[in-house]
Amino acid sequence: MKYISTRGLAPELDFEDVVLTGMASDGGLYVPTDIPHFERADIASWAGLSYQELAFKVMSPFVAGSVSDDDLRSLIDRSYAGFRHSAIVPLVQTAHNEWVLELFQGPTLAFKDVALQFLGNLLDHILKKRGQKVVIMGATSGDTGSAAIEGCRHCDNVDIFILHPYQRVSEVQRRQMTTVIEKNVHNIALKGNFDDCQNLVKASFADQNFLPEERQLVAVNSINWARIMAQIVYYFYAALSLGGPHRPVSFSVPTGNFGDIFAGYIAKSMGLPIDQLVIATNSNDILHRCLSENDHTKHELQRTLSPSMDIMVSSNFERMLFDLHSRDGNKIRQLMDDFKSGGMTLDNTALSKARSLFSSYRLDDQEMLAVIADVFETSEYLLDPHTAIGVQAARKTRRSHDIPMVCLATAHPAKFPEAILKSGQAKEPALPHHMSDLFEREEAYSVLEKNDAEVQQFIVENIRA
Ligand SMILES: *Cc1c(COP(=O)(O)O)cnc(C)c1O
Repeated sequence: MKYISTRGLAPELDFEDVVLTGMASDGGLYVPTDIPHFERADIASWAGLSYQELAFKVMSPFVAGSVSDDDLRSLIDRSYAGFRHSAIVPLVQTAHNEWVLELFQGPTLAFKDVALQFLGNLLDHILKKRGQKVVIMGATSGDTGSAAIEGCRHCDNVDIFILHPYQRVSEVQRRQMTTVIEKNVHNIALKGNFDDCQNLVKASFADQNFLPEERQLVAVNSINWARIMAQIVYYFYAALSLGGPHRPVSFSVPTGNFGDIFAGYIAKSMGLPIDQLVIATNSNDILHRCLSENDHTKHELQRTLSPSMDIMVSSNFERMLFDLHSRDGNKIRQLMDDFKSGGMTLDNTALSKARSLFSSYRLDDQEMLAVIADVFETSEYLLDPHTAIGVQAARKTRRSHDIPMVCLATAHPAKFPEAILKSGQAKEPALPHHMSDLFEREEAYSVLEKNDAEVQQFIVENIRA
C-alpha cells in the first residue's frame, strides 16, 4: 500500500516510512492512495473472530508489502496481551439498543492505548528490521503522554521524551507517566502551559539538527496513520457483535482531534454498514460549528471537565476535508491557507457531503454532569465525562431506535474523579485493581525551564547509545 499527502506536494511513501514520518513535507497528512474495500460476504464471514483475529483481517491491506502476515499477527497479539478484559473492547448495554464500547481496558485507562500499544510494537519491529533508532518527542495535557509511554517502554530502538506542563496535569495523569521507570523513558515537566510544551515540540521537529547523526524524531500523536489504522478495528468488532453487517449500526464518538471518528469513517468507506456517525464535542466545538453553521474558525480554548477534548483545531479533520473535496490537494492547500488567515468555508457540495456522513452535537460541562447522573440512576453504569458527552450526543441526534447505537467509551471514570464527584457521586471511583497502588509508586521526572536549547540538550544527554 502506498500513501499520499493531503496537500499533494510531498512524495508518495510506503507504510513503513509513513509510520516514521509523521507530518508530510508539504505540511499535509498522509492517507492511503486507495481505501481497501471488503465485500459484505467477507465481513459476514468474520463474525465470531476474536479481536486479535479481526484486527489482522482489517489491518492487513494497509500494511501490505511492508509487514509480513506472521509479523502482523505477532505484533497484534503482543499489543493486546496487556488488556484487562479478554474481549479487549467489551460492549456494555446502557439502554434499549444503546451500548457503550469500553475502549479503556488497556494499561492507562483510555482508548489511546488501543492504538499506542500497537504503535510501540510496530515501531520497534520496523526499526529493528532497518537497524535504526529514533527519538519520540511529544507534548501532552494528559492522556496521550501516558499511553505513548506505556506503548514504548519496552522498545529497544526508541527513546521517548514526553513534555507535560509542570503542575498542570492531574495527579493520576502525572503518576501514570512518571511512575514508568525505564532507561528509555523521560518525563519532562516544563515550566509553562500545554501550548508552550507543544510549541517546543513543534520547533524541535522543524529543526532536528540538535540530534546526533542518524537519529530522527517520530511523532506519536494522532496524525500518525498507524494510530488511525488500529482504531478502525473496533468499529468492525462492535458492528459484528451487534448483528452487522446484516444490519447497520451507528456510532457516537467523543471527539477532539478527529482521529477516532475518522477511523469510523474509514471503516464505513471499507464497506462496513454504518448508519450514523455522531461527532460529540464539548464547548470546544469547532467541528459542531463547522457542520451546523459552516463556521470553521478558531475560538479561544475553553477549559472543561473533559480535558482530552479541549482543542481549538482538530488536526485530523484535514484528512476528512481531503475526501470531501475529491482528494484534490490543491484545494486543501487553499483551504488551509484560508484557515490560517481567519477561517475556511466549505462549498455546498462539500458541506452537504459532510452532513450526509456525520451528525454533530455539543454539550457544556453542566449538561455533561447531568448525563453522568442520569445514566447512573437508570442503569448503575458510571460514565467518564468524555463518554457522557458521546452518550448524550447520541440520544439527541439519533434518527432510529431500531438501529443499535454504540457510544465509544474513551476513558475509565477513575481517571477524572473531579467530574465524577461534581456529578453527584458520593465518592471517587476506585482505580482498577492493577493500578490501585499508583499513589505509592516511585516517580521520576525532570523539571525544566521553557527554553528550547535547554530541553534539547537534556534530550541529547539522555539518548541511549
Ligand atoms: C484523546 C481523547 C479523545 C479525543 O479523541 P480524538 O481522536 O482526538 O478525537 C476523547 N476522549 C478521551 C478520553 C481521549 O483521551
